[in-house]
Amino acid sequence: MKGRVIKSTGSWYSVQVGESVLSARLKGKFKQDELKLTNPIAVGDWVELAKEPNQETAVISEILPRENYVIRKSTRKQHFSHIIASNVDQAILVITMKSPRTSLGFIDRFLVSTESFRIPAILVVNKRDLMSGEKAEDWLLDIYEIYKPLGYQVMEVSAASDLDLKEKFEPILANKSTLISGHSGVGKSTLLNALVPEAKQHTQEISGFTAKGVHTTTFAELFALDNGGDLIDTPGIKEFGILDIEDQELSHYFPEMRAFLGKCKYNNCQHLNEPGCVVLEKLAEGYIHPYRYESYVNILNEEDDHR
Ligand code: GDP
Ligand code: ZN
Repeated sequence: MKGRVIKSTGSWYSVQVGESVLSARLKGKFKQDELKLTNPIAVGDWVELAKEPNQETAVISEILPRENYVIRKSTRKQHFSHIIASNVDQAILVITMKSPRTSLGFIDRFLVSTESFRIPAILVVNKRDLMSGEKAEDWLLDIYEIYKPLGYQVMEVSAASDLDLKEKFEPILANKSTLISGHSGVGKSTLLNALVPEAKQHTQEISGFTAKGVHTTTFAELFALDNGGDLIDTPGIKEFGILDIEDQELSHYFPEMRAFLGKCKYNNCQHLNEPGCVVLEKLAEGYIHPYRYESYVNILNEEDDHR
């Protein structure tokens, strides 16, 4: 039979098969591929599995081909990678203007990673109730003006007080697998709990761990929504595979720069100060937003180890 991995805790996997969830393990020695993965099976994977005779458990014999996956290098063991989630249709980044403020740099890094995985991204501005006055208007206007023209959807919510969250998100989340992310404090758990009450347990477990100072290993969990979609929470994960991006590749993941690839005078142009650089021209013309260009340069200048 076929099922989808909704949780992975070391050697046991929770697999959703129709209405039920089975505990499953891998069959004998499993073939590791060239990716050098620390985990052969990821949350979101579709797998082929069979019930074990006389037991409540099942054995996974095959991973069906992944449509895509979000992967990151494990920072301590650079040569190993960890698949965070697979078969993801879109990614939400929860952002806030205050308590705490999400920097544009952080947003851009997130978008670079989702672009690199070819996953559409949605920015959800949370704590809308805390935003009023001119400063808030300016900040919000920046968010819309910078990101909407690039094709990113922007939404505004107050996760703690909105009563229509489910309705608001229904058209976005229905029948899709959506990864949800955001730095600590933005209200991601509040939003997740409002959309899937079963998630409460999960988020409490995670914060319980951190309170004890135990290093939380990053593990994702998939929660089914009642509209055919599901939400994949990625607790403790700040960034995805930005580590793996080569300098030469970086501008491919800025849609406004991607449009001009191959147009610069030099083939290997990094768009910094080279003569005949079309990106710099477009920046001067105002077609490329200065904040976005700043993020590009910042990411480029970082030591590989810190990316
Ligand atoms: P997480 O770290 O992103 O999971 O954030 P939490 O969901 O734990 O929320 C962090 C804090 O922000 C909590 O005190 C929440 O009550 C608060 N919070 C979440 N959403 C909102 C909101 O829409 N408005 C306001 N004012 N506070 C919120
Ligand atoms: Zn250039």
